Amino acid sequence: VPQSTPGHTAVPLTTPLKTVRGIGPSRAAALQELGVRNVGQLLAHLPARHERLEAESPVAALAVGAVGSARGLVTATRTVTRRPRPRFEAVLIDDSGRLDLVFFNALYMRDRIQPGVRLRVQGRVQRYGPGLRMSNPQVEVLPDEPHEQPQSRDARLRPVYPASERITSAQIERCVRTVLPSADLIDDHLPADFRTARHLPDLATAYRLIHDPPDEEHAASARRRLAFDELFLLQTGLALKRAQRLGTRRAPALRWSPAIDRAIRDRLPFTLTPAQDRAVQQIAEDLSRPEPANRLIQGDVGSGKTLVALYAMLQAAASGAQAALMAPTELLAEQHARSIGTLLKNSAVRSALLTGSVPDAERAVILAALERGDIDLLIGTHALLTDAVRFHTLGVAVIDEQHRFGVHQRAALRAKGDDRDSAAHTLVMTATPIPRTLALTLFGDLDVSTIDQLPPGRSPVTTRVLPPERRDEVYAFVRARIDRGEQAYIVAPAIEGDDDARGLLISSPRPPPPPTSHQPAAPPALRSVIDLERELAAGPLRGKRLGVLHGRMKPADRERVMDDFRAGRIDALVSTTIIEVGVDVPNATVMVIEDADRFGLAQLHQLRGRVGRGPRKSACLLIARPLTDDAAARLKVIASTTDGFRLAEKDLEIRGFGDVIGLRQSGMPPFRVADLTTDLDLLTLARRDALAWVERSPALDRPEDALLRRRLLKAHGTWLNLGDVA
Ligand code: ADP
Ligand code: MG
Repeated sequence: VPQSTPGHTAVPLTTPLKTVRGIGPSRAAALQELGVRNVGQLLAHLPARHERLEAESPVAALAVGAVGSARGLVTATRTVTRRPRPRFEAVLIDDSGRLDLVFFNALYMRDRIQPGVRLRVQGRVQRYGPGLRMSNPQVEVLPDEPHEQPQSRDARLRPVYPASERITSAQIERCVRTVLPSADLIDDHLPADFRTARHLPDLATAYRLIHDPPDEEHAASARRRLAFDELFLLQTGLALKRAQRLGTRRAPALRWSPAIDRAIRDRLPFTLTPAQDRAVQQIAEDLSRPEPANRLIQGDVGSGKTLVALYAMLQAAASGAQAALMAPTELLAEQHARSIGTLLKNSAVRSALLTGSVPDAERAVILAALERGDIDLLIGTHALLTDAVRFHTLGVAVIDEQHRFGVHQRAALRAKGDDRDSAAHTLVMTATPIPRTLALTLFGDLDVSTIDQLPPGRSPVTTRVLPPERRDEVYAFVRARIDRGEQAYIVAPAIEGDDDARGLLISSPRPPPPPTSHQPAAPPALRSVIDLERELAAGPLRGKRLGVLHGRMKPADRERVMDDFRAGRIDALVSTTIIEVGVDVPNATVMVIEDADRFGLAQLHQLRGRVGRGPRKSACLLIARPLTDDAAARLKVIASTTDGFRLAEKDLEIRGFGDVIGLRQSGMPPFRVADLTTDLDLLTLARRDALAWVERSPALDRPEDALLRRRLLKAHGTWLNLGDVA
């Protein structure tokens, strides 16, 4: 543990920086622009990373061929603009000798280095004539302020701080050193035995070490403590929210007995897979309790989430309560209504479909029946959220493909069951696998069931990426499959030739993919569904029965096309991404995606999930010439695995945590130390600890919780709406 810098003493954490001796008004002003006003905030201004500084030696003692470090005075400089090697040169001397510095392609160095300046340099030492030289060394201009403390010349790690035009990282480092003794005033919100058991340093030590680590090991230990705190505070907030919900809201306790279980299973067309079975058990237990369940059901595309949801809905019906299922597209809602309707034929359970395209007269009938309690299961789109929709007793609200809805829409459906202090049980389903770290963070107040197994009799989908020149081969392959009685989806990004892909994406609930670094000046025109169908009908798929499907069609037309496709009266369906979610036609074995580089990874995975639903070998053929690095990376990843969870993790790597859908709009403050791509173990630990803590102290109102509570409310009180905890 480093000692406090001699000459500085601890001052209160709230001390304004402009009054701290050794920082000065101009640096205090520059720090203020970074949001750093007082001593505590400066200590909380953490280095983004550390870099290694080699031990300094006298110039004459530098070892040729090794990376060395020295400091000295610049006595001469020279700029050579002449080609072929324009460069800036400087001569550095110390008491022992002379070192030549040369900076190739870095003429701007002449603005930083002039004769009379003192430098610390680090780089590989070369022999140069009779003397020594460094090419493009790292350079630090040393301050000549008289009260600056001399810095250690031993090898050490140097913190690299988020800096600005007005203040460099090295200057921030010197300011931090001035106030470092005050770190000892930082109280710890974690008790000593708790810390010891987890090998976490105390908070004061962690702050001192992160700013001035003697070695990598200490830096890592400090980082671990601070990352743990971030994760632990968030998880404690989420656990409190959950405790609040369970402690204050009531929900109808739905009946569940072996007889009910048998009756429900008898209605289902398949024996549940073990994974479905596990989810069903967890859900049924949840629903039979008088507190509102809030559960995320995550399962890869095609894992059979619909049956699991149906089980829950039928459990509601068995208790005389109603259930609602909300899907993000009319197409999917229609499909759910159809398959559920078929399963419930000849049963007492009554279901209905409500979307924006249901005619007014029919809607009025449905709404009246719903309010009387004459409809048990209501299936629909966000049309379910309108005020006119009133349930008699909503017991279970299911949100399918939850990531396609906003936070508010999810809450609105749940609220349909609100009745004084009672609330509906809520299940949210997602087929876009979320990396575990993200799930625990974003949905940390939800219980999670994972369906990690596909129903039997599936064969894996082969994925290939082909350049546009090979489209003929692609469609010859499609043709051969159709000749064997199989069916194909062919997806294109636009509806009509003059469509702009961007416009289309904006009109869907999904935001457009983030712009990538080097966009080409003018992207080539995208293939449209209408043109593509024409082209295929006249050429490669001549004589085959083609259908067209897109979001601008009338619902009745759309339904007819889907009926025809399901019944095998259409061989190949040329469609927009409207079929991305939910569509289920097991005889379809080929998925062709035109301009595949335009789609996000999750979207490609969803589209691919439309095939491979039967026993026959399926293929996904991506036609693309990627124009950006990110697009190329996406295509490479999608071709390399069909595992949705692996894809989700790769997606996180490519796009970065902040870009992942849902996080930004959640309002959660970004992590500064914790890294969700690598800190899963720490997160798991923090979560377990937070749940245990809140279980012991559900209102966080013991005296020993006071500091934790204050820090928690400060970090997460607003966005988690924890007001009533305080
Ligand atoms: P997703 O999880 O993507 O919503 P679905 O619920 O649409 O998946 O189910 C995908 C397909 O698997 C459907 O055709 C469904 O009928 C079938 N399926 C679901 N559960 C089983 C099961 N236990 N055994 C066999 N097939 C099943
Ligand atoms: Mg589904």
